Amino acid sequence: MAELRVINSGKKSSALQDAAALTTQLVAGLEKIGLAMKSRTWRREGRAGLGPLQRQVLTLLRSKPGQCAQVSTVANELSVRLPTASEVIATLERKQLLRRRRDMSDGRVVMAQLTAKGNRSCAPSSRMPDRLATAAEALSAPEQVVLLTSLVKVIRSLQEQGEISVARMCVSCRYFRPNQHDNADRPHHCDYINAPFGDRSLRLDCHEYEPASTVQVNEAWANFTGSRTA
Ligand code: SF4
Repeated sequence: MAELRVINSGKKSSALQDAAALTTQLVAGLEKIGLAMKSRTWRREGRAGLGPLQRQVLTLLRSKPGQCAQVSTVANELSVRLPTASEVIATLERKQLLRRRRDMSDGRVVMAQLTAKGNRSCAPSSRMPDRLATAAEALSAPEQVVLLTSLVKVIRSLQEQGEISVARMCVSCRYFRPNQHDNADRPHHCDYINAPFGDRSLRLDCHEYEPASTVQVNEAWANFTGSRTA
């Protein structure tokens, strides 16, 4: 009996070691992808004379309606302090990549708006997305869905840890109704388009996104993760 307990405890500790090793490998893999993207981005930015934060500001403005946002919104969404955002925006204005102006409805609010030159300077590189798309296409359809749902979980965890400020994902959107339909392919519902959809259509950056309340996010998350084992 004692021998059996020793064997069982040995199996458990081996399983724990396996899980820890797998986590280490996953982190190493994510870091490698991050490094590949960063080195390419930095090389491209270096040629354009843009620093990483400068490029993030331009890319953020490019995604906004009218390519315009409040300076405080830029600071919030990029998780930087307001003086840092203001300084980067002033630098980009000197480079004529954006212009600052007062909000028409509230003169105390400063807006930053991309110029045509700024828009051109942060156009997505054609090469890296192509290469990433090639890598993603090498996965089977089920593998792609598993990767997408796993990314949703990783991004949500990074948000909870304060590393990502804003992610316009379905799982935190007020229009998201997870597992509403008795349909394995399309169990979720988007109230915005009033249509069912499946895991393969989950959005990580949706233009129609509107943030849900904390209560709604927690309920949706429990419902979204409660029915899956992966
Ligand atoms: S509006 Fe966009 S983010 Fe929100 S649930 Fe629909 S598809 Fe998802």
